[in-house]
Amino acid sequence: MKKHNFSAGPSILPQEVFQKASEAVIDFNGSGLSILEISHRSKDFVAVIEEARALVKQLMNIGDDYEVLFLQGGASLQFAMLPYNLLSINGKASYLDTGTWASGAIKEAKKVGNVEVIASSKDKNYTYIPKNYTIDSSSDYFHCTSNNTIYGTQMKDFPETSVPIVCDMSSDIFSRKVDFSKFGLIYAGMQKNIGPAGATMVVLKKELLGKTGRGNIPTYFDYQAHISKESMLNTPPVFSIYTSLLNLQWLVRNGGIEAAEQRNRAKAYLLYEEIDRNPLFEGLCEKEDRSLMNVSFTITDETKKEAFDNAWKEAGINGLNGHRSVGGYRASLYNALPIESVQVLVDVMKSF
Ligand SMILES: *Cc1c(COP(=O)(O)O)cnc(C)c1O
Repeated sequence: MKKHNFSAGPSILPQEVFQKASEAVIDFNGSGLSILEISHRSKDFVAVIEEARALVKQLMNIGDDYEVLFLQGGASLQFAMLPYNLLSINGKASYLDTGTWASGAIKEAKKVGNVEVIASSKDKNYTYIPKNYTIDSSSDYFHCTSNNTIYGTQMKDFPETSVPIVCDMSSDIFSRKVDFSKFGLIYAGMQKNIGPAGATMVVLKKELLGKTGRGNIPTYFDYQAHISKESMLNTPPVFSIYTSLLNLQWLVRNGGIEAAEQRNRAKAYLLYEEIDRNPLFEGLCEKEDRSLMNVSFTITDETKKEAFDNAWKEAGINGLNGHRSVGGYRASLYNALPIESVQVLVDVMKSF
C-alpha cells in the first residue's frame, strides 16, 4: 500500500512523476535507450535541460536578466559558493540567522569573507522570525532562508532594500506566490519540492557577477563558468534533472504556483486547526511565523506518545518524527502531498 509520506526530504513527488520516471529508466521516449545510459550531450537530454530551464523561468515570471543553473553539491555547497561569487574582498554580507541551515550558510560565508549577522532567533530556539532589523546599504548582499525546514517557521514577506537579496528557498520553492524578480539569487536543493536528490537549482541575476575582485576562484566554484557551459561544465545529474522536469510539468498542468499555494494553505490550515484545538498537541512556533510546508508540534502528555506513534504508523503514515535536533513531530506538506493524507493524520489525532 502506498504510504502517506510526510518526510522532510527527500520527499514525496506526484505518483504520476514516479510512474513516468520509472518508464524512462527502461525506455526513454521510445529511443530504445534508458535515460540512465544516454549522453548528457545528446539531443534528447539537451531538450530536457532546456525545457526545465524554460519552465523555471516561466513559473518564476523572470526575464533574460536571470540565469537558471542546475548544479550539484546540494544547497550546502551554495553556502560557500555564493559568497565566493558575490562577496567582495573588502566588503561585507548581511545574514539573517533563523535556524540550522541559516547558521550553516553563515559559517561557510565567514570562511570566505566579512559576514555580519544582523538578527537571530536563536534566543528562543528559532521558533520565530526576527522582524525589526536593518540592512546596511553598503552590504554586498542580504542572505535569508525563506522556510526553516527543521523548526517550521517561514518568512511571510521579504524586506524592501536596495541590497541584492539572496535566499535559500530549498524547502518552499514553488509552494506559494513570491515576487521572484525582487531577488538577486535564489537557490534550492531539488529534493524537497522540485525533484529527487542530486541537483540544486540556482537562479541568479547576471549583473551581480564579476564584482568581488576575487581573481582566482576554482572553476567549479565559479557561476560564470557554469553559465558559459549551460550547466554542463561537467556531467550533470541527468536523472535528477529529468525527474524534476516531469514534476515542473505536473505543477504547470495543475494550475501553477497559485493553485499549489491554495492547496498548500488548505492542508496547513487543516493540520494547524487540529493542533490548536486538541489539548494533546501543541505547536512549536509563533503562530504568525508558522510554515505552510513543515508543521512542527509536540505531544503534551508523554504517556500517550507510544500509542500515538503506533496509531499513525498503522494508518500508513511515514516520516512524522521531528528533526533529531528538535524532537517532537514534523509534518512536511510539500506540493505533491494530497490533502487526503493530511486528513488521515488529523483523524488519527482526533481519535486521541
Ligand atoms: C535541506 C535544506 C538544506 C540542505 O540541503 P542539501 O541539498 O542537503 O545540501 C539547506 N537549506 C534548507 C532550507 C534546507 O531545507
